[in-house]
Amino acid sequence: MSLFRPDVEALQGYVPGEQPQESGWVKLNTNENPYPPSPRVVSAIQQAAEGRLNVYPDPLGRGFCQAAAELFNLDPDWILPANGSDENLTILVRSFADKNDLIAYPYPSYILYETLSEIQGTRHARLRLEPDWSWNIKINRPLIEQAKLLFVPNPNSPSGNHWDREVIQSIVPPNGVLVHDEAYGDFVDEPHKLELLHSEVGKQIVVTRTFSKSYSLAGLRFGFCVAHPDLIAGMRKVKDSYNCNTLGLAAAEAAIRDQAWMLENRAKILATRTRLSESLKSLGFDPVPSQANFVWTTHPTISHREIYEQLKGRKILVRYMNFPNAAPESTTNRTGAVDGLRITVGTDKQVDAFLEALSEIVAAG
Ligand code: PMP
Repeated sequence: MSLFRPDVEALQGYVPGEQPQESGWVKLNTNENPYPPSPRVVSAIQQAAEGRLNVYPDPLGRGFCQAAAELFNLDPDWILPANGSDENLTILVRSFADKNDLIAYPYPSYILYETLSEIQGTRHARLRLEPDWSWNIKINRPLIEQAKLLFVPNPNSPSGNHWDREVIQSIVPPNGVLVHDEAYGDFVDEPHKLELLHSEVGKQIVVTRTFSKSYSLAGLRFGFCVAHPDLIAGMRKVKDSYNCNTLGLAAAEAAIRDQAWMLENRAKILATRTRLSESLKSLGFDPVPSQANFVWTTHPTISHREIYEQLKGRKILVRYMNFPNAAPESTTNRTGAVDGLRITVGTDKQVDAFLEALSEIVAAG
């Protein structure tokens, strides 16, 4: 006899990427930033640790909200801090979707959207992307119209492509909320400046951000939502009382105030990204032009899983991903799977080690 809720018993559960805890790996599998965070972050954590850890943190994280508000030229009540962007997504699902509601998301994309819908017990729908990663809005329109929540990672993961603002504005569900998941938003050539929130449909959009990628703080677990204060006020009722801890709040505030540090690392990553994509092409791969800190690629003949295994044998970790039933509605063959490799843009040295190993694997066929 299981003591679990039947739907929880049936859950597969979200499986995060491999996180080896020992050193010696070239780790290009979960889109972390290879460069360290700002030194100001480290001193902010030290200072906070010497302070008042015996008392609870500010439940609203007002210091951080103020810093984010200054950066975006908004009032602080537009900001909701969270314990990683994954918590943003949990808060959103809890706030807006009950079991009769539909949660929709592009597919292939971030699988956690589906897992959270299953945990909440809502209806959910995959909006299958075209082979070139574009939206077939006409075919998906009926599901978009029904959606209470539509999650859109932009740039998308695993593909790394970026959809134009016009596309996003045209898919806001008429009676629901569009979540513009900007986990990788700082790596776009011309990053959004929250224009979506000031558009006609802005009151139905929530932007989510993370400190795990561009700010080099995946180990910290910090993210935040930006949205109209009416939405933020409702979401506050749903979050855990003290969802962000004292050290995380201090660190995130220092990080967001040091834009120069983030932008310098971003520039290095963008330069390495170009080199990685070009090198993949010269090895016979077919990378998708990326606007993120990773590159999605396929090879016309060699098994992607085999490449992943061989790299792993050399202590190089990339992400092998397989999305069953990914063929879009516009095709007649609806059973096709999409699989490939997602490679995080590391330091130049890490990328060189990866490319050297990959060229040996390709040469061996
Ligand atoms: N959204 C997307 C699209 C992601 O890839 C990730 C990272 N896995 C997240 C949200 C969550 O980021 P975090 O919880 O590390 O802030």
